[in-house]
Amino acid sequence: MRIAILCLQGAFLEHEQRLQQLGVETFRVRQLADWLQPKDGVVLPGGESTSQTHLLHDLQLYDPLRDELRNGLPAFGTCAGLILLSSSHLGTMDIAVRRNAYGRQLGSFHTTADMGEVGSAVPMTFIRAPYIERTLSPQVNVLAEVDGHIVAAQQGAQLVTAFHPELDSDTRVHKHFLSMVQQRSAAHV
Ligand code: GLN
Repeated sequence: MRIAILCLQGAFLEHEQRLQQLGVETFRVRQLADWLQPKDGVVLPGGESTSQTHLLHDLQLYDPLRDELRNGLPAFGTCAGLILLSSSHLGTMDIAVRRNAYGRQLGSFHTTADMGEVGSAVPMTFIRAPYIERTLSPQVNVLAEVDGHIVAAQQGAQLVTAFHPELDSDTRVHKHFLSMVQQRSAAHV
């Protein structure tokens, strides 16, 4: 299994560490030539979604990424990565997102919440996070809510969290993503 990690900007190092810790081969995507390598899934890390969008366009990565996502490439988007997959950006997930939803005062906080099949009491670190304002199709499966707002969801082979699981030592969310990747690979042999 080989997982691409978008490394244009933001918190990609911790994702790389988590995945490598789980025994998964990863590679960094900084330009189109990197992206064109064979891959079983992609991680879209947190950071700043406007900068990331500009960089994706400037590097001619935007359309190739969207095409592979549309073709079912498994994806895991955290925070800014969630925003990129939402209906107002790449649009491969049917979710409407509110950016910087927690305002400046509550911009960063830590909590735990249940996350469906991923498990109970999952640690969640929020950093100037968005939340999912609403789901736009029945294909979206809500996995977690905090204070009545959706903070994790899945649609087909795409998983998003408004928080940063890569910043906590709990690896259940990454393991869940890897099981999604495995399921898709098994379905395509
Ligand atoms: N606030 C950032 C944005 O809107 C996301 C923050 C994050 O990824 N930690 O793009």
